[in-house]
Amino acid sequence: MTQERVTNASLFKRAKAVLPGGVSSPVRAFKAVAGDPIFYQSAKGSKFIDCEGREFLDFVMSWGPLIHGHANTQIVQAVTAAAERGTSFGAPCEIELQLAEKVKEWHFAVEKIRFVSSGTEAVMSAIRLARAASGRNRIVKFSGCYHGHSDSLLVAAGSGLVTFGRASSAGVPDDFVKWTTVLPLDDEAALEQTFREVGNEIAAVIIEPVPANNGLLLQRKAYLEKIRQLTVDNGALLVFDEVITGFRIGPGGASQYYDIKPDLVTFGKVIGGGMPVGAFAGKSSIMDQLAPEGPVYQAGTLSGNPVAMAAGLAALQTLETEDGFAKLEALGAHLESRVNEGMQKRSLPYELRRIASLFWLAPKGPQAIRSAEAIPASLAEKYKTLHSKLLERGIYIAPSAYEVGFLSTAHTVEELDFFAENLIEALAP
Ligand code: PLP
Repeated sequence: MTQERVTNASLFKRAKAVLPGGVSSPVRAFKAVAGDPIFYQSAKGSKFIDCEGREFLDFVMSWGPLIHGHANTQIVQAVTAAAERGTSFGAPCEIELQLAEKVKEWHFAVEKIRFVSSGTEAVMSAIRLARAASGRNRIVKFSGCYHGHSDSLLVAAGSGLVTFGRASSAGVPDDFVKWTTVLPLDDEAALEQTFREVGNEIAAVIIEPVPANNGLLLQRKAYLEKIRQLTVDNGALLVFDEVITGFRIGPGGASQYYDIKPDLVTFGKVIGGGMPVGAFAGKSSIMDQLAPEGPVYQAGTLSGNPVAMAAGLAALQTLETEDGFAKLEALGAHLESRVNEGMQKRSLPYELRRIASLFWLAPKGPQAIRSAEAIPASLAEKYKTLHSKLLERGIYIAPSAYEVGFLSTAHTVEELDFFAENLIEALAP
């Protein structure tokens, strides 16, 4: 009997029969690039092999956690050793202290930290804590920033500036989001107006200090400082969502990069070294309001899981021992210059926007794009072709024009040159 060959198409067909949309998380379904998803079989370093045995150079890196690439030896060894000592305790263990102490040593906004199992959970819990600590309800967020899928953050901007937000997902009652105000990024006037009108209701302003979920919308430092000042002046908290930037922009994340201290900070991705970990942290006076010390309930069966903590600790330690941040900056700078030189030479209307090891292919304009509203809609169409051309050449970039790319310490200069060349070729008319 001949066995049917496994292909991406055959697995996706099977997947659609048991998983909604064939995936466990929507962006994986390749809808934005009108293709079928690639099923990973195995991965090592900067590359992976798909279920058809083809090799790809990976610039998605599990959407950020894999700062040292796939199956990094130190992380795999730490995880294996931890698993042999027990996969879950549901009780305190020393390795969780080691990771907490490391994060506190690196990030100046961290006095105390609580571990959870995802970025969504980290932000959801930080918001609850901010509301309790301030005794207020309103949350201000920015369009183009993503903070996970908890109810009060699945919100789109309303029709006026300081109006109620609208739920951006079915299943979220408007009543749940009426306390969330959504503002455009890079707009001081909108911020000032909001604080003038409802400043005494605002529990917290939450922002990705480096917005990286709708393109890479690098903000002006003065704008972030304005947010810090307005929150201080109005008795509101500032929450930096560093789920992407934490331990990627540098040891102290975007907070250190901009030298702005938030009251609370959220982490995910790199902090788990590829295992499911999130965390939220901040001033002791605020964090101590969490149960069992204080009245804000928050808990988790798998929080501080010893195997996940071991992976995160190994990821951070390896960044330190291998001078990871300097290496990532050098790789990022190399890619940026190769791509942008190529774009200029061929007079292509794009540029690579970059900070540290995060990058985004942006339309070139007289001004850098700093808000979601400024991204031209035509980008998505062009990206579809680019995406499929790069796949043909063995290069895997995010299946959406609005997602950023991630470098790891496992990428090499030669691989970046190969990527740059192919990117330019694929974009050239
Ligand atoms: N916050 C930011 C800035 C994110 O980028 C993400 C996920 O991409 C989240 C929160 C949610 O994290 P998770 O997907 O681990 O729930």
